Amino acid sequence: MVSEYNPGTARSLSRLIDELNRLPGIGPKSAQRIADHVIRLPGEDARSLADAILEARDSLVFCEQCRNLTDASPCEICSNPQRNQEQICVVEERRDLVALERTHAYRGLYHVLHGVLSPLNGVGPEDIHLPQLFERLRETGSPFQELIVATNPTLEGDATADFISRRLGGTGIHITRLARGLPVGGSLEFADETTLSRALAGRSALE
Ligand code: ZN
Repeated sequence: MVSEYNPGTARSLSRLIDELNRLPGIGPKSAQRIADHVIRLPGEDARSLADAILEARDSLVFCEQCRNLTDASPCEICSNPQRNQEQICVVEERRDLVALERTHAYRGLYHVLHGVLSPLNGVGPEDIHLPQLFERLRETGSPFQELIVATNPTLEGDATADFISRRLGGTGIHITRLARGLPVGGSLEFADETTLSRALAGRSALE
């Protein structure tokens, strides 16, 4: 059957276009273009692309400590003794961690939430990896002295930061938030390295 969305297109090609079109940020026209590119790849390259998708999908697990995606848990960052074991930085997404790592300005550990609190969309603390964060920080003998909240400067990112700070009040951990200067409503992942390094250096206590 020829897809109604891709008239005049072979079924197998139409299926590829439909799958690509389901990916974030890829509209129908981009899907057509990528599909045309992919079907012209040498067999070996096309297989390598398909394998990379399957391998990433099948071998990735959450790091038992920071919840980042990793091939082996604990991840490379958590198991690196050179990292500052007294600092922990909370980010919304894996991509934000990558952005911070690119600055080379942060040498502590991380905690990846994989989301942000959003009561309007029904996202509560249990739906993101917040309980695991509180567990790490409340563990007896927890080495953490400072928690840097690096959620995005959006309404939801700020609300999540407030929630974390309220829940950890009285634990003695110094809680800081990245300095303003990141574009409001923007995302860490799109900030340039200088801006992000400055926001990190200028962090202030979160009351
Ligand atoms: Zn980890």
